[in-house]
Amino acid sequence: MKILVLPGDGIGPEVVDEAVKVLDFIFQKKKIKVEFDFELIGGVSIDKYGVPIRDEVVEKAKNSDAILLGAVGGPKWDPLPIDKRPEAGLLKIRKALELWANIRPIKIFPELSYISPLKNSDGIDFVVLRELTSDVYFGQPRGIFGDYALNTMIYRKEEVERIAYLAFEMARKRKKLVTSVDKANVLEVSSFWRKIVSEVAQKYPDVKLEHAYVDAMTYYIILNPQKFDVVLCPNLFGDIISDEAGGIIGSLGLCPSASLGSLNLGDGRIQGLYEPIHGSAPDIAGKSIANPIATLLSASMLCEYSLGMKEEGNLIEKAIRNVLSEGFRTQDLLEKKSQDEKKKSQKGKRGKTKIKVVSTKEFGDAVVKSLKKLLI
Ligand code: NAD
Repeated sequence: MKILVLPGDGIGPEVVDEAVKVLDFIFQKKKIKVEFDFELIGGVSIDKYGVPIRDEVVEKAKNSDAILLGAVGGPKWDPLPIDKRPEAGLLKIRKALELWANIRPIKIFPELSYISPLKNSDGIDFVVLRELTSDVYFGQPRGIFGDYALNTMIYRKEEVERIAYLAFEMARKRKKLVTSVDKANVLEVSSFWRKIVSEVAQKYPDVKLEHAYVDAMTYYIILNPQKFDVVLCPNLFGDIISDEAGGIIGSLGLCPSASLGSLNLGDGRIQGLYEPIHGSAPDIAGKSIANPIATLLSASMLCEYSLGMKEEGNLIEKAIRNVLSEGFRTQDLLEKKSQDEKKKSQKGKRGKTKIKVVSTKEFGDAVVKSLKKLLI
């Protein structure tokens, strides 16, 4: 099996290094042959080759089982025109691999519930499933035409169907609830989306389907996040809902993602791109303080979906939890509250556990150490 590693810019290489270290440890321990290939994407590729991604790198991605990506972008490249910026490299790869399903698990670690902005964050565990290749982002015509501007919101039946099927399949293995998000009281496209999703639901009598208007959904996520299971969203609404959902668990450094396409690799494996949802964090790049958890969890999803190694993926998550229980924290997991509040809440959650503030690398090393015990 082949993994193309694209560390990218800013903290990308720092967090990706830790994920590669953890994956490599698992593969060696399990004697599974997986090849890593490292390439440039984003600003570093622009600096070296003049383009955010080279065609040969896109070809390599197509021929890989999985792509592990850090982040792209930074102020240095902000003045470039949109199609020449680092982000264009990422969009090109998503498009070339036709990655239509974006999966963002929103799960609170009990050890970290104190950093959530919500009073009650216990037990939050749902998945935002966002359609990634259609909607108003890709609809034609589009443009600015003198004194008016236009974008086209569009969904085709097959696009709604395939993401709806995935939502119901996922829910079947979880809490058996799909919440489909739309704006069917106003938009024809949403009304069509609702109709197709309801038709697919007929084939899953064991899974409950609910519909929610997107405006109300933003409210429910804050009020009662514990009730959700699989939140199915069109591209535009999913973009907004998934960031809001990420916010309720307290740090961008905790949110992984997987983008899957239709390339079946056999044995139930699917080609995918795995990346933390955060950006290149130029404000902390090079300081070795970035939180690698989001990237480590992305590596866990990579094991599950693209390598057929769900058990090993689960072990990565377990190892992260062990490390958190031992009191290891990167700085972003400490800074949300005043010193007084911090002491109070951390004491409440972990009794006498001593908090150890560690670097990105030290956190990754601690995860490997924990995996050593779990993998015997
Ligand atoms: P960002 O996610 O990079 O950072 C937002 C804030 O979160 C910063 O204060 C940062 O320090 C903090 N943060 C992010 N990840 C963290 C981590 N792992 N550990 C600790 N703290 C973390 O968003 P931004 O500042 O808006 O964007 C910076 C650059 O990243 C921009 O060029 C933007 O275009 C790009 N970007 C790229 C992606 C991607 O590659 N998929 C996504 C979002 C933004």
